[in-house]
Amino acid sequence: MARAEWSSAMIPAAFDYIAASSVDEAIEMLQKHGDQAKLLAGGHSLLPLMKLRLAAPGVLVDLGKIEDLRYIRDAGDHLAIGSMTTHYMLESSALVQERVPLLSHAAGMVGDMQVRNRGTIGGSLAHADPASDLPSIVTVLRAGIVARGPRGERLIPADGFFQNTWTSTLYPEEVVTEIRVPYASGRTSSTYQKFRQRAADWAIVGVAVSLTLDNGSVRDAGVVLTNVGSTPVRATAVEEALRGGPSTREALGAAAERAADGLNPPGELKGSPEYKLHLARILTLRALETALSG
Ligand SMILES: Cc1cc2nc3c(=O)[nH]c(=O)nc-3n(C[C@H](O)[C@H](O)[C@H](O)COP(=O)(O)OP(=O)(O)OC[C@H]3O[C@@H](n4cnc5c(N)ncnc54)[C@H](O)[C@@H]3O)c2cc1C
Repeated sequence: MARAEWSSAMIPAAFDYIAASSVDEAIEMLQKHGDQAKLLAGGHSLLPLMKLRLAAPGVLVDLGKIEDLRYIRDAGDHLAIGSMTTHYMLESSALVQERVPLLSHAAGMVGDMQVRNRGTIGGSLAHADPASDLPSIVTVLRAGIVARGPRGERLIPADGFFQNTWTSTLYPEEVVTEIRVPYASGRTSSTYQKFRQRAADWAIVGVAVSLTLDNGSVRDAGVVLTNVGSTPVRATAVEEALRGGPSTREALGAAAERAADGLNPPGELKGSPEYKLHLARILTLRALETALSG
């Protein structure tokens, strides 16, 4: 009996499979099958949930055959990234490394090579897992997320996209098609630091930092934390402490002390709330120092 329960928990419930040949067809299928349908991208978050029977969609609409969703382009003042672009493509792209190095650096820290080869940026953002890395990265970079649905296309700022654990502002019939990452103006230095659960590489806590430096002072600062709440959390107290101040180690240290201000992280097997608050301060200091020396 116990054995049968265990084995059924490793096999998803039966589902129909549709390989969409275009975004329009995918939207049509989402409309047609309603609550029963789920989009499939890299499958590295959805399929584990289905195997554990935490999700049981009746229809999977695969985006994998839509080559038009797999690209990285210089669009003048921003980088345009198709939603089916894999973590590995972001990690290894010379264009991303040159124009938005933080994104390439962080994509290289997602899971292992198998995960990076299949997992996509669109899937990672749409899944809205608080422990995922790329939601914090697109938030700190003030990226926009393009979603297309039956009523047309809209551009959603990353800052308002993530609503709660596994919940975003996407409507059920929308497909994420593109991510737009604005180019920084001025001298920017950035990094992502995460303290990870070695077995699976998920962040216990992560911090993304982007500093715009100007003649020994910090002109602008972005600091966003991973896995200390139900969404990426902007560390506004740290940003305010840094903005307009000197870019000295002392000033960064004082600002990093404020990384846990107002946080109330949930405890979990990987770490207690107190441990996460400690990591938030330590990793923010480490990230600020790394960005300053970069
Ligand atoms: C062992 C392991 C380790 C991992 N480690 C990490 C890690 O360290 N850091 C990290 O950030 N992630 C990690 N991941 C998750 C990985 O990054 C996934 O790739 C990612 O979370 C989901 O992307 P996907 O393309 O696989 O999406 P899928 O699993 O295919 O889909 C996820 C969800 O998004 C929806 N969706 C997908 N694409 C779209 C779209 N274009 N528009 C609208 N909705 C869409 C799906 O319907 C589904 O609900 C790990 C996964 C595994 C299995």
